[in-house]
Amino acid sequence: MDNFTFQNATKILFGKDQEQAVGQETSHYGKKVLLHYGGGSIKKSGLYDRIKNSLAEAKLEVVELGGVKPNPLVSLVREGVDLCKEHNVDVILAVGGGSVIDSAKAIAAGAYYEGDVWDFFTGKTTATQTLPIGVVLTIPAAGSETSSGTVVTNEDGQYKRSFGHDSLRPKFAILNPELTYTLPAYQTACGITDMSAHIFERYFTNTKKVDLTDRLCEATLRTIVSQGKKVLEHPEDYDARAEILWAGTIAHNDSLGVGREGDWGSHDIEHEVSGIYDIAHGAGLAIIFPAWMKYVYEHDVARFAQFANRVWDVEIDTRDLKATAEEGIARVEAFFASIGMPTRLSHVDIDETHFEEMAAKATERGPLGSFVKLHKEDVLAIYKLAK
Ligand code: NAP
Ligand code: FE
Repeated sequence: MDNFTFQNATKILFGKDQEQAVGQETSHYGKKVLLHYGGGSIKKSGLYDRIKNSLAEAKLEVVELGGVKPNPLVSLVREGVDLCKEHNVDVILAVGGGSVIDSAKAIAAGAYYEGDVWDFFTGKTTATQTLPIGVVLTIPAAGSETSSGTVVTNEDGQYKRSFGHDSLRPKFAILNPELTYTLPAYQTACGITDMSAHIFERYFTNTKKVDLTDRLCEATLRTIVSQGKKVLEHPEDYDARAEILWAGTIAHNDSLGVGREGDWGSHDIEHEVSGIYDIAHGAGLAIIFPAWMKYVYEHDVARFAQFANRVWDVEIDTRDLKATAEEGIARVEAFFASIGMPTRLSHVDIDETHFEEMAAKATERGPLGSFVKLHKEDVLAIYKLAK
């Protein structure tokens, strides 16, 4: 096993009614809080009122910024940075999903920076001091509640870019499965796809294989598949929602990637799609990942055959491992289709118009991925396979 450092300090409060502790938890980080949220689902569900009450009980002063869109925009991040500077905000509370949390992280970095916050995403600067962040999660998907990364779109040029810093990991994250009951089936399925993708990105690696890590990845994927079907059939099944909620965190808290280099090419290829067409990130991954798998699997057929066997119960054909590997990829695609995801760009009305531009933008800072290094022509071929 290769050496590794594992540090994930986010405190998790999991289960029914845990959001009642939000005022108390937030108060550890100061007096003035920026309450950050999305387009209104938390007001409709009543969560917003409960959060406000808890913050008031803890005697916190609240500055508000709602309106985060899925695929969050840098323009709103800039507003958030200005608010933090103007009001001397001590802590940011993100209530929502990956988009709200990522927007909060970008604001947290920008709050102590003199220049434009987009500089973090271009690599012009890196985070040194950041504001602390707390989270109340409403959708299991991105895993941003414990990750160090943030993904933001610059609408000027439609660039969707990420950056990461350990200080951006939320200080605490409140995960109550009941808060996910109101999710539309499509958003639930997008989340299931994204968390699966976070495991795929770590599973297909050239680094020395660690059996424990492989088995943890496979077990988490099997749980996502079985419980994912359950939550779509029974949206208010507490235990199934709880399994999916926790799986989304486990998939991206780094424990499934220790000691190995992740790939992340499919995420980069997808970001160009949702950056231009504004589709849900999970839906984009349901389209791109099977295409990526078809393009690269011959690089390590045995690994894809193991994946087919252990995750999808495909019998290993020792005389034709390629057939086993291909069947595994077919099962991935069939699973995404079965939960209502698009699996081709044409399913979301995307044609070849921007393929060249997307492939060029995706690779402008060098080749993507690590399992197989992908240059512009490879990325273009993957978009074509996903047509
Ligand atoms: P999201 O974009 O935060 O939310 C998707 C939609 O679900 C929104 O319209 C939201 O509505 C709605 N919603 C959320 N919770 C709900 C609930 N309980 N009931 C009803 N509707 C609800 O979804 P996400 O998949 O978590 O985040 C996607 C973003 O994360 C993408 O930009 C992706 O690139 C990024 N990402 C980040 C990381 C990371 O580590 N930082 C990793 C992977 C992906 P409202 O706006 O009305 O609340
Ligand atoms: Fe993702």
